[in-house]
Amino acid sequence: MTDQARKFESPAELSSRTRTTNIERMANEIFDVAVIGGGITGAGVALDLASRGLRVALIEKDDFGSGTSSRSSKLIHGGLRYLEQFEFGLVRESLRERAVLKQTAPHLCKPLEFLAPLYSESERSPLGSNRLKLAAGLWLYDLLAGSQNISRHKWISSSDALKLAPGLSTEGLRGAFTYFDCLTDDARLVIEVIKAASTLGASVANYARVRGFRHNADGLSSLEIEDRIGRREFDLRARVIVNASGVWSDEVSRLTDGQTRSRIRPSKGIHVVVPAERLGNKTAVLIPSVGENRFLFVIPWKGRTVIGTTDADYSGSLDDPIAEDEEVNRVLRSAARAFPDSKLTMSDVINTFAGLRPLISAGGEATKEISRKEEIFEEVSGLITISGGKLTTWRRMAEQVSERVVRRFENNNKNVMTRKSHTSDIALANGRPSSGENDCEFDSGTVSHLKETYGGNYGVVLEIARQSKTLKARLIDDLPYIGAEALYAARYEMAMTVDDILARRTRITLIDAGKGQSCAGVVEELLKKERGS
Ligand code: FAD
Repeated sequence: MTDQARKFESPAELSSRTRTTNIERMANEIFDVAVIGGGITGAGVALDLASRGLRVALIEKDDFGSGTSSRSSKLIHGGLRYLEQFEFGLVRESLRERAVLKQTAPHLCKPLEFLAPLYSESERSPLGSNRLKLAAGLWLYDLLAGSQNISRHKWISSSDALKLAPGLSTEGLRGAFTYFDCLTDDARLVIEVIKAASTLGASVANYARVRGFRHNADGLSSLEIEDRIGRREFDLRARVIVNASGVWSDEVSRLTDGQTRSRIRPSKGIHVVVPAERLGNKTAVLIPSVGENRFLFVIPWKGRTVIGTTDADYSGSLDDPIAEDEEVNRVLRSAARAFPDSKLTMSDVINTFAGLRPLISAGGEATKEISRKEEIFEEVSGLITISGGKLTTWRRMAEQVSERVVRRFENNNKNVMTRKSHTSDIALANGRPSSGENDCEFDSGTVSHLKETYGGNYGVVLEIARQSKTLKARLIDDLPYIGAEALYAARYEMAMTVDDILARRTRITLIDAGKGQSCAGVVEELLKKERGS
């Protein structure tokens, strides 16, 4: 180890070995709480409960974050749209959470400027063409963010708007409003929350599916788990069970008593990824969705542009929803109308992805009208189910679930000592990357990519990279990912498959599916070597 490397505090191991140990513990010990689902909701609940000193197990049927939580628009935001629905409480809470995450994981909550152009024609203006109404909405948005606001909204001229988004249609452009929200990497946010929970003592395992429940006189006593890697089945015993399985939560609840529930109304949203230079916007831009009374975001993300999202009822398979051609076409037509010179077509599409919102079924209104506020259900069986919500509000949602769990222990006279939740003080990913480390042997693109991806742990990846040429080399010539990241993912982030590494620990396949395929062989070799197989 070099002197330089010693400066970096190593994160705790979270490898396939740790997974085996965790599975053993799950099969043999009794936990205070078992959490079903390793998306952002389950990860947050596990972190909050572990921070209160409870013995927690978290099981995820596929990979952490592989459900909705890696398929979002990647915004940590108040949700300007919710103001129209008078959801002021939700917006204020979300903006508060944005401020917390900016402190605890600055690299996962980066301020981003948004541009909302205003045209003489209402249907070309993403938020309508009433300037006064818009100004009032943005003023309220700033107000709800309070002293933690990133920067106040501004009105800018059409020529200034075109400097930020040169490809925007100029016809009838009157100017634009700008405001700030934050950008994240959703799958990395999930894994960092999982890692923090594990560091605080939670036993976590991916590829472990809940297949059923067992009951005793007091209610639910254990979960029947299928370990999909170790190819075994075992019972996981826990005093309280939390169902945080997103769009699958009705399905999981049904396993307790065979009764069908229809609390969840899945709503599908797709995104289209195109090269950044095609639209050329420097900020995020709001554009109207063609033929709909809603807007899409055009978001600069990891050297690409991500355009989305849609919002429509969905009744297909919950596993792996895909973006249909018709949906992709609508998004492309909307972008091509807002940026007419881009002449965007299907051939520009690098990738698409689709996710399902676990909305709580209300009346017959359109999915876009349904509240994004979460709901917690305490079921007759004793199962505590949390559904709905947003990526942004994960920490607050987790606090609320934990409060129910603690109350359950108190009411049942279960002798379980708990502390207060302190997740707002827990730095994720070892906090902010320190500046001035001795990383001059690496090109600046790699270093800034590693800082943005791994926050305060980026030095650990550099330390691994120093061990060999393959680990230091780029996985793909024109993208900043290096071999060491694969090893880091396997050793510290429980990546079990090549896809875990390419799709979620790094986001290579998301920003370029073809290039992801091209380096799959190298990644597989690194993974095998790390495991000694
Ligand atoms: P999931 O991430 O789906 O996690 C549930 C997990 O449970 C899954 O990983 C699943 O595999 C697991 N599971 C299911 N059944 C079992 C079982 N039997 N055993 C074990 N595990 C099981 N929010 C924002 O704040 N900002 C945004 O920009 C944003 N954009 C969005 C865009 C789209 C298109 C969509 C669809 C949503 C967006 N959201 C956004 C909302 C946000 O992404 C979701 O609210 C959030 O990710 C839901 O997380 P979750 O953990 O509840 O569900």
